[in-house]
Amino acid sequence: MDYNNFDYDKLIEVISSLDKRYANVFSFGKSVQGRDLYCAAIGGGDKKVFLNGAHHSLEWITASLLANWCVDYIDAIKSGTQIGGEDARRLYGKCTYYIAPMINPDGVNIVINGLTPDNPQYMSVMDMLDGQNVSEVWQANINGVDLNHNYDALFYEYVEIARQAGYDKPGPRRYPGVAPFDQPETAAVREFVLDEEFPFTIAFHSQGEVIYWSFQDKGFPDLAQSLADASGYTLDAATGISSYSGYKDWYLDKFNLPAFTVEVGLGQNPLPFEQFEQIKTDCYPLIARCADLV
Ligand SMILES: [Zn+2]
Repeated sequence: MDYNNFDYDKLIEVISSLDKRYANVFSFGKSVQGRDLYCAAIGGGDKKVFLNGAHHSLEWITASLLANWCVDYIDAIKSGTQIGGEDARRLYGKCTYYIAPMINPDGVNIVINGLTPDNPQYMSVMDMLDGQNVSEVWQANINGVDLNHNYDALFYEYVEIARQAGYDKPGPRRYPGVAPFDQPETAAVREFVLDEEFPFTIAFHSQGEVIYWSFQDKGFPDLAQSLADASGYTLDAATGISSYSGYKDWYLDKFNLPAFTVEVGLGQNPLPFEQFEQIKTDCYPLIARCADLV
């Protein structure tokens, strides 16, 4: 599999090829345009770790990372080798990884494949783009809502901040929607999380090689430091417009459980695919570490 330009079709190809003896693959919801939000559950242990990627369209390399990890993890389990510096069978016995590589498949697809007139939202997205190139700017879902500002964590405070910054209507980025979880993707994530009660979660984004770990006065700095040690990434606190109504903000705020944003790679989104091997080198040990932190 070529993990470059990792669109929804490639996700289906990878996820449906996973060995069913090790991976339980299912959909926990649908996008605006009816694409499945796939998850692969891999593991035999009772501890649960939930990792998700591609809330933001331009950051599809995080879906490449998580999908490729599923393949490599199952290979390592079968062959009795290591992944991310840890014995794969030990990890398998310890926890179950729930991997949802692509939370925003509609957005990823227009960034990678372009916006074409057969897209049901062609006219509205063209309007929102206002002459900008979709492949350079589009972070939102197909409704023009930034999914990582659509969670219930100081949401209405964020609406006001966003309004003052000019993000007061649907567009390529930063617009939070009208109410928390008013988009099918975030509503599905919410239901899934409430059902499964994951005690530990990471949302993968790009870029910066940093780990965001706090919201207001909540957070788990020791666990964050362990993830930083495993990856070589540095810890940071989100400030200003980035510090409200995101997935990990909501998770920390609502459940007071360990939740992190990991920003992979360095540069301008979408990251050059040449970084993919380095991102795997950094993040596989971080993902392996989760099993020992949950
Ligand atoms: Zn992001």
